[in-house]
Amino acid sequence: MIQVTPTRPPAKCPSDTLSLAEPLPITGVGQLSEGSCCGSCGKQGEEARQAAAKCQGKTVSLDPETYPVRQPTEELLAEIEQHARRLEGKRPEEIVEWAIDCYAPRLTMATAFGPEGCVILSMLAKICPDTYVFNLETGYQFQETRELRDRIAEQLGITVDYQHPETTVEEYERMHGGPLYKTNPDRCCFDRKVLVLYRVTRHFDAWMSGIRRDQSPVRAGTPIVRWDKKFGLVKISPLANWTKKDVWTRIMKERIPYNPLHDQGYPSVGCWPCTRKVLEGETDERAGRWSGTGKTECGLHTD
Ligand code: SF4
Repeated sequence: MIQVTPTRPPAKCPSDTLSLAEPLPITGVGQLSEGSCCGSCGKQGEEARQAAAKCQGKTVSLDPETYPVRQPTEELLAEIEQHARRLEGKRPEEIVEWAIDCYAPRLTMATAFGPEGCVILSMLAKICPDTYVFNLETGYQFQETRELRDRIAEQLGITVDYQHPETTVEEYERMHGGPLYKTNPDRCCFDRKVLVLYRVTRHFDAWMSGIRRDQSPVRAGTPIVRWDKKFGLVKISPLANWTKKDVWTRIMKERIPYNPLHDQGYPSVGCWPCTRKVLEGETDERAGRWSGTGKTECGLHTD
């Protein structure tokens, strides 16, 4: 259940063109039942099983007919670009403040409790602790990640809401005859992350994420603010131009809670079945994610 508590009036946004229409009604999202395919085609029973078999290995995307998203006007896109340029030299705190002023209470943040997310949460704790923050609880998260959520609530005063897929892990694996992460991780990420983010972000005009440009080539072009075509709202990345060192310096300086797995050889932590420790000599901080599959992203940050 999403509860949005207004924090302060969104008064300082330079233009009301940033205000979007009401969110679209939620239809057909993740309506999974036993014997259904994946929620993206609406098939059931034997037909669904056959469709699921054909899905194996295929690119998974949000089909706009089944999953409509809001479209921006030309003016809105131009304005977003202007803001992106203007915010490029600003500190993350200033970017978060701008986001709050423009969009609260229709601003949300998604976090997987990575170091970047913890840093932004520490900023929100000072600037606007009532911001609705959620975690995509796939059911496959490490226990250490779940415990970090409790420590964040205790130390920062921000309770991160869990947003679950429509099926439990047991139901999902039964439906697919076993863990899908082994045979079709794209589909698994789609069902357990992408669809859930789609469902939540429809209630908001903007979302924040902790991605950084230097995390991977795919993320290298991340603007501070952009229109997120996939989910149909504004996306803000306050740490886009920070480095890993910047993030950890802040964590150490302010004693921000972080996942203890980072001290055990996991620079990037996702779901346990798809995360391993990095090996000696591996410099890519995401090398331990979906190792050996060629997959590098879960689909939340790619169009
Ligand atoms: Fe499934 Fe792995 Fe994606 Fe988690 S990271 S949703 S377990 S494929």
